[in-house]
Amino acid sequence: MSAALWSQELGLRPVILESESEAGGQLLSTFNPITNYLGVEAGNGTELRDLFTRQLEERGLRPFLGDPVVGIDPVKMSVRLESGKTVRARGMIAAMGVRRRRLGVSGEQEFVGRGVISSGKRDAPGAYGKDAVIIGGGDAAFENVLIIGEFARSVTLIHRREGFSARDEFVEKVRAHPKALIRTNCAVRSIDGDDRVTGVTIEDLATGDLARVPAEIVLIRIGVEPNTDILNGVVDLDPAGYVMVDRDCRTSRPGIYAVGDCAFPASPTVSTAVGSGATAAKSLHTWLNR
Ligand SMILES: Cc1cc2nc3c(=O)[nH]c(=O)nc-3n(C[C@H](O)[C@H](O)[C@H](O)COP(=O)(O)OP(=O)(O)OC[C@H]3O[C@@H](n4cnc5c(N)ncnc54)[C@H](O)[C@@H]3O)c2cc1C
Repeated sequence: MSAALWSQELGLRPVILESESEAGGQLLSTFNPITNYLGVEAGNGTELRDLFTRQLEERGLRPFLGDPVVGIDPVKMSVRLESGKTVRARGMIAAMGVRRRRLGVSGEQEFVGRGVISSGKRDAPGAYGKDAVIIGGGDAAFENVLIIGEFARSVTLIHRREGFSARDEFVEKVRAHPKALIRTNCAVRSIDGDDRVTGVTIEDLATGDLARVPAEIVLIRIGVEPNTDILNGVVDLDPAGYVMVDRDCRTSRPGIYAVGDCAFPASPTVSTAVGSGATAAKSLHTWLNR
């Protein structure tokens, strides 16, 4: 949205293509207040999204919704949409963000909404008096132990390695939490249940032993991966799939730029997305007028 706003500001005619039926990306699943975006405070991500879309609408900018980009032709500078339509332009700015990484085990999809929850902040009250399992070893996993631990009877954090990438302050708080238990060197092999989740099966990676951890609530926080599949072979990606960009948000392909979380994994924030969007629009404008 920032890239579109700045493109228009510079006299270009931006077209915003969004795969979902609603614009907003990760802001739509942000249920915490956003207090770290300079100049604006919002009660949650949707509120901030509303401010963004209102500003775009006042400029006559509305995203085309519900039609994912499924292919990019960098020579013709065109994209193909799932509906079969083709959109041509003089340049492109990729802002496809990231998605939550999946475990890829049985039960993960089947029990969504029936014990497998997607947001600790939103769904924690539903864990009242229940046993919960959180899978992961980063900030998000540890933070959610603390959030869900306010309501649940017990929270078990399961992590496949010995060490954690989470901040020490989170790890220390979880270690001291009376209801929290940490199990390291364990991989989740399945999420089990009947109508609803009843537990997870874990494998001790040192011994190969399988064990069952009873739980009615499961939250998976094992990181994110970029939505850059359609850019594979079009521009250079790093080994994790993030778009490689220079300081002007240029990719390896002239005329194609990348911004936000899909290009800046070290700083996945609204501020970076908004700032890099403006940078890319400026760069694209300069390139078109070269
Ligand atoms: C729970 C949570 C809390 C957060 N809290 C904060 C916070 O407090 N402060 C902060 O600064 N940041 C926070 N963030 C991070 C922030 O939301 C992201 O950094 C920001 O949304 C990144 O914006 P983006 O435009 O790069 O990507 P996204 O928000 O991921 O948007 C990408 C968009 O591209 C669309 N898309 C993807 N592929 C295609 C395709 N092929 N065709 C068409 N459209 C496509 C997606 O549907 C999506 O709408 C939080 C994130 C989460 C999940």
